[in-house]
Amino acid sequence: MTVASELAHAVCSGDRRALAKAITLAESTRPSERELVEQIFASIGQRAAPSFRVGVTGVPGAGKSTLIDVLGCRAIAAGSRVAVLAVDPSSRQSGGSILGDKTRMTRLSAEPNAFIRPSPTSGVLGGTAGRTQEAISLCEAAGYDLIFVETVGVGQSEERVATMVDCVLLVLLAGAGDEVSSMKRGVLEVADLVAFNKADGDRVAAADADAASLRASFSISRGAVPPVIVLSALADTGVAQLLGDLTRFGAAARADGSLELRRSAQRREWFDSALEEGLHELFTQRPDLALARAAAADSVAKGSVSASEAARRLLAQLVPARS
Ligand code: GDP
Repeated sequence: MTVASELAHAVCSGDRRALAKAITLAESTRPSERELVEQIFASIGQRAAPSFRVGVTGVPGAGKSTLIDVLGCRAIAAGSRVAVLAVDPSSRQSGGSILGDKTRMTRLSAEPNAFIRPSPTSGVLGGTAGRTQEAISLCEAAGYDLIFVETVGVGQSEERVATMVDCVLLVLLAGAGDEVSSMKRGVLEVADLVAFNKADGDRVAAADADAASLRASFSISRGAVPPVIVLSALADTGVAQLLGDLTRFGAAARADGSLELRRSAQRREWFDSALEEGLHELFTQRPDLALARAAAADSVAKGSVSASEAARRLLAQLVPARS
């Protein structure tokens, strides 16, 4: 057996270390490792479990990790296998010490049916949807049927996460009042479910009021009101309701075909961005093209040729002239 087929076999048999290793390979940009990843996918074939992919977003400190910990344990108790992947959509680079050394998801990480992308310093997937998709596919091959894609870091872009998942769960702070009114419109538009977290202690009444006003604003802006749940991840109240709403959302999206439509549009986007990345790589990494590009950029800067004409000529170097 080749290295790739051995690793693929280990991933499919549920070996979590093999899965972590395969995801690390998928994050790499080194050509030899990319090739290995392609071979792993070829060996895995169509053996993946169907999954439901949930993006979890919200400001740092909203309680996303705590909520996923409780939600994931409940899903496992109901028969799911749960994977959690951290992505930093605000950056194209992976890594950074965004998560610091905080202990995350202690209960979930003790579950044999959970896989959490560990390593807080290097385990954060960069912003590219394609890479995240590969990590998701590897988790599916390993039999995980509920996959949380958690956004980490500041300045995160929820809209980008929406291009990676079946459903976006927005976690807001209960009782933070103006948080919603000051929020970018796009964030609320991509939310399929909203959870007001930390509705415990003296924040319960404020949380209910926040939820009611958000429902009212949804009914004006969208017509349909997505589930808005008031909960406390810490006290584990409302979490069962959230899991029920998530499950219903997934089942309905599967049944009416919207899940497949969404994924199909996402695949198209990943293709487009892979093509763009590939072109960018060609013009930065192939020495002759990199030189030609630098020269063209200089001419454009001097004003001796228009930007569009210079780009057209440069692209023509890739395409054999028609006879
Ligand atoms: P994240 O940055 O969004 O992942 O937030 P964390 O899950 O790390 O939570 C940030 C802080 O809020 C931690 O100290 C948690 O213990 C706390 N926290 C999370 N959920 C709740 C909750 O439901 N109620 C209260 N009171 N605190 C919570």
